[in-house]
Amino acid sequence: MNLTQRIKTSIREVQDFPKKGINFKDITPILENPFLCAEIITEFSRVFSPTTLDAIVGIESRGFLFGMMIAQKLNIPFLTVRKKGKLPYKTISYKYDLEYGTAEVEMHVDSIKKGWNVLVHDDLLATGGTAAAAAELIQRQGGIVAGFAFLIELSFLNGTAKLFPYSDKIIKLATYEN
Ligand code: AMP
Repeated sequence: MNLTQRIKTSIREVQDFPKKGINFKDITPILENPFLCAEIITEFSRVFSPTTLDAIVGIESRGFLFGMMIAQKLNIPFLTVRKKGKLPYKTISYKYDLEYGTAEVEMHVDSIKKGWNVLVHDDLLATGGTAAAAAELIQRQGGIVAGFAFLIELSFLNGTAKLFPYSDKIIKLATYEN
């Protein structure tokens, strides 16, 4: 089995979580497999090592898991994007639309340096709203979005369309078409 197949075999699909109609992709079985985790980190690092990266931004909370490990492997800073009200220091925030209502994410104001090339990482790309909000925070602080890295893409939600305005380098290791 190739890496994509092994990732898909390990993901547990939970119907109607956290609400009816959602088919939740549970990555905790992947986290229980250190060999698979190591391969995932190696693969992301291999794809992005030719790119000049100054930092990785991980999106709360599952984006912290592999984001930190990729940053360690590439020997670059790891920065956090969190839901509003979680970061202790001064923040810059960005509000975006969800299917129902809005969400708001934040970063510390001193984390991105002007001109930095920054990779955005999250476990899963659905509609793309959250990753686009992270990209917006990076750009508003003078950073450059160098690309996006996801473990999983739900391609039927067309999230990449929201991300192309920021970068066309969008890597996903496993895609679900329905
Ligand atoms: P979106 O902003 O629509 O791209 O949603 C992405 C965020 O929601 C990520 O942080 C994911 O962890 C989470 N998410 C959305 N849909 C799912 C799903 N079906 N299974 C697991 N996580 C999901």
